[in-house]
Amino acid sequence: MYRIAWLPGDGIGREVMEAGRVVLDALKLDAEYVPADIGWEFWRQEGDALPPRTIDILKSSHCALFGAITSKPKEEAEADLAPHWRGKGLVYRSPIVRLRQMFDLGVNLRPCKAYRGNPLNYRDDIDLVVFRENTEGLYAGVELHPLPDDVRRALEAHSAPMRAFAAIASDDIALTARVITRRGAARIIRRAFEYAQKHGYPTVTLVEKPNVLRETSGLMTRVARQVALDFPHIELWERNIDAMVAELVKQPQQYGVLVTSNLFGDVISDLTAQLVGGLGFAPSGNLGDSFAVFEPTHGSAPDIAGKGVANPVGMLLAARLMLDWLGESERGTRLENALAAVIAEGRVRTRDLGGGATTLEMADAVARKL
Ligand code: ATP
Repeated sequence: MYRIAWLPGDGIGREVMEAGRVVLDALKLDAEYVPADIGWEFWRQEGDALPPRTIDILKSSHCALFGAITSKPKEEAEADLAPHWRGKGLVYRSPIVRLRQMFDLGVNLRPCKAYRGNPLNYRDDIDLVVFRENTEGLYAGVELHPLPDDVRRALEAHSAPMRAFAAIASDDIALTARVITRRGAARIIRRAFEYAQKHGYPTVTLVEKPNVLRETSGLMTRVARQVALDFPHIELWERNIDAMVAELVKQPQQYGVLVTSNLFGDVISDLTAQLVGGLGFAPSGNLGDSFAVFEPTHGSAPDIAGKGVANPVGMLLAARLMLDWLGESERGTRLENALAAVIAEGRVRTRDLGGGATTLEMADAVARKL
């Protein structure tokens, strides 16, 4: 029996998780779903959006399914705290970012496939899978402001252009480091190639910018060329991030698996999601070596929360990724086929698709197909 940590979170996260449960139950997955606390409510009441008891549940589970969480900028987060927590120096950090770092979930997998009959498709022949590095790059958390003296001295010791920045007053300069490690690069790129091999994609496209980001994108490129040698049947394509976004508008059907660093992946996966219907259609898997967290890529969507109108497809596809990861590929394929059939028929559609069905009605339609 699988032990799956169940993390609904905030807003429509809760609603789409309910939909996910309807479909997983219809698939008769032999699993125990262990509810765990995560989200804004726990930040406000306990000063921690990811309490230690939740981490204990995660540590004793095979994997986790997660809905969505609200996140707000630093000052708003502080103001939302229950009065007795304010002024205590608590800093809000996104629980999902913490989970990625805590469990070393370095691989973010984001398939974006156009299902036939989806009126929101940009084209009907799109089948893209983005592999985004999840723990490094510009989101590694190496951010400095004001500039500490030791860093200033280090900049001074270097030649231009680094030395020029050392002359700026500490408070007038903020610095973020883009961190790429050989290990992190090799892990994401190898996973991308393995996925391409398993699922029959003929190409893997590395999306970077080595002509400008010579060291960080340069390392990604060198590692990609090395890893590609182990996959002689898969072609490595290299594209600069700026050219790639243009390509994704011009001829997205030419591409399959894309692999990239954290920030670039964040940006292009929103674009690829939009090509196949928007946030309501985009699942994501955060994968480590022995643990994984699956989620739809959308947020808690306060504007539609509580109305039962959220599209559950992103969540159902996240469940499909989870099934695959658990080795339950047969159930995963059945889920995807049932979902594809409901979309193709077009009788049950949520509001984003121009219909009037609720989140649960859509899930029920998929469950009936199963
Ligand atoms: P958060 O602060 O939690 O990230 P947000 O509103 O900034 O929330 P999203 O939750 O991702 O960001 O929502 C962006 C927009 O997309 C909103 O207008 C929302 O209603 C819409 N949206 C997101 N997910 C869905 C969904 N599953 N079905 C329908 N619309 C959605």
